[in-house]
Amino acid sequence: MTMQPEPVLCLESAEEFISIGRVDWYVTKSWRKLHAVRDEDWTGEHRADMEQEWAVLSPVRLACGRVAASVCIPGMFSRMGAERCKGCCRALGYPQGKGSPKNDDACRVLLGLPADGGGLCEVLGDEERSEEGE
Ligand SMILES: [Zn+2]
Repeated sequence: MTMQPEPVLCLESAEEFISIGRVDWYVTKSWRKLHAVRDEDWTGEHRADMEQEWAVLSPVRLACGRVAASVCIPGMFSRMGAERCKGCCRALGYPQGKGSPKNDDACRVLLGLPADGGGLCEVLGDEERSEEGE
């Protein structure tokens, strides 16, 4: 009787990375701004990076048209305080401003989230959620 190795289903974590990035946006190594990436610009290579590194380490096209060498999910302080890239805001129809779309009431409306839910509780809840790796 041969032991079959358990199939490792990692696809979910790439999807989770993308769904978090959709509302948190991404930070690059070189630019201290939050950028967005359109869903259709993710490749299989990017998804493999997400699953292994929880970051994208190969060049990726941002919504503003620039290409970043790598992107990752911003930490809490970047999400609250970093400026959103103007080009990405323009490309996706978000107002310009500071903080992840998730933490900005005007953007939350566009995301279909309740406008008053961007408080500290929501941020802490989110940190917990990513720790558990749901
Ligand atoms: Zn950008």
